[in-house]
Amino acid sequence: MDSLTIAAIATPVGMGGIGIIRISGADALPIARSVFIRAAAPDDGGERTALPPVPESHRFYHGYIRASETDRILDEVLLVLMRAPRSYTREDVVEIHAHAGPAALRAILNLVLKQGARLAGPGEFTRRAFLNGRIDLTQAEGVMDMISAQTDRSLDIATAQLRGGLGDAVAAIREPLSRILAHTEAAIDFPEDVGEEIDADDLLRALTRRVIRPLETLAERYEDGHILRDGLSVVVAGRPNVGKSSLMNVLLRQDRAIVTPIPGTTRDTLEEQLSIRGIPVMLSDTAGLHETSDPVEKIGIERACARLEAAELVLFMTDAGLPPTEQDHAICQMIRHKPVIWVINKVDLVEKPFVPNIPDEWAAWPRIGISARHGDGIDALRDLIAETVLTSSLECESVVIPNLRHRVAIEESLASLREAVSGIDAGMPFELVNIDVREAFDRLGDILGITVREDVLDHIFSNFCIGK
Ligand code: GDP
Ligand code: ZN
Repeated sequence: MDSLTIAAIATPVGMGGIGIIRISGADALPIARSVFIRAAAPDDGGERTALPPVPESHRFYHGYIRASETDRILDEVLLVLMRAPRSYTREDVVEIHAHAGPAALRAILNLVLKQGARLAGPGEFTRRAFLNGRIDLTQAEGVMDMISAQTDRSLDIATAQLRGGLGDAVAAIREPLSRILAHTEAAIDFPEDVGEEIDADDLLRALTRRVIRPLETLAERYEDGHILRDGLSVVVAGRPNVGKSSLMNVLLRQDRAIVTPIPGTTRDTLEEQLSIRGIPVMLSDTAGLHETSDPVEKIGIERACARLEAAELVLFMTDAGLPPTEQDHAICQMIRHKPVIWVINKVDLVEKPFVPNIPDEWAAWPRIGISARHGDGIDALRDLIAETVLTSSLECESVVIPNLRHRVAIEESLASLREAVSGIDAGMPFELVNIDVREAFDRLGDILGITVREDVLDHIFSNFCIGK
């Protein structure tokens, strides 16, 4: 990374109320000065002036962006300087709040670049915030999760991470490990001095209780976090006329996610996005899942099968009044290795749902009676879905949840710790155990970005948008 001043358009491209150009680095202020003139204040005789030599930090200045070569006014703007270190990047930051037309913003950005700034790469502002020590790496990742959060609950995880919750949790485990490391390292430096002072049993106990168990707990939350971040694909499977479309409609009416689709996902009409108990859900239906010779329908069936194959949860639907058929059993064969909720629909039509002689497999699935037509049981179905897919209840403190990168590092750390434990158990000398402890310690440092490699950073920040 270089230390040049960087600049980018920080708001989404397109129409909008305002658009913001962000400049960060040692030259942010001189560059701003060279493109900005202040509007005349009512009481100073109509004179336009330059920015004061030492502008106030965190104060808006009203004025114009002017191309000095042509003397052309590009836009009327508000300009704010945030002096280092009280800024997002901890460098001098200038924001120019302009009108949001893409042409106007690009013209201003070009002017700024001509004055010596370099166009920022994806996530480069956040990367500088990280490199300058304002945030740890988990917080930088939280910034991105926050931008892409789709439901309130995903947002809760992202903000907790942004505030440093996950970083704190990892640091709290890394701390006792650092003391253990000091012991095993001391064994290397002064073998004859401390050789007998460290008690292997104490070390084992500390490792297990203070480090390994808390790490395991943290790793277990990954699945939940993954679901809340990336969403859950749910397929309603069942033979024709059991009420699949009716269920989808009733859920959609109440829960349709009010968010834009994730870029890159094609939205076919059978797949809908909704939010169930805060879980972003991609809900689809296996309409047309039956034998056919019609080539067009065949494509439909293949797609239905593919969706079923990819489903993370299947709502297997039957009709409360009808006994299982061959077709039901065929569907069951396809979903037997998946998490399933058995949804018995049309309970409004019967005194008691039809359940005699059901296969063992069905009996093992959590089951719920609903009426898609009248809305009975829908709320309970939502709860059952959330219960089935989330392992922890995710109350306040547990919104601290690792992402995939963190999980991999945690697993690597745990693997080394287990090596260390069996080493100590086997009576290995501490200088050998130390290698594993050191490794485990460094992997935890990776999570916070302390020991992380440059290419990992590149990868993380390349997922950001430019301007963030
Ligand atoms: P799909 O083929 O599985 O998608 O089934 P549909 O949702 O199209 O429903 C088939 C028929 O069952 C329609 O006439 C629905 O109105 C009816 N239906 C769906 N759910 C219920 C229900 O809970 N109770 C009753 N009485 N009828 C329902
Ligand atoms: Zn249908």
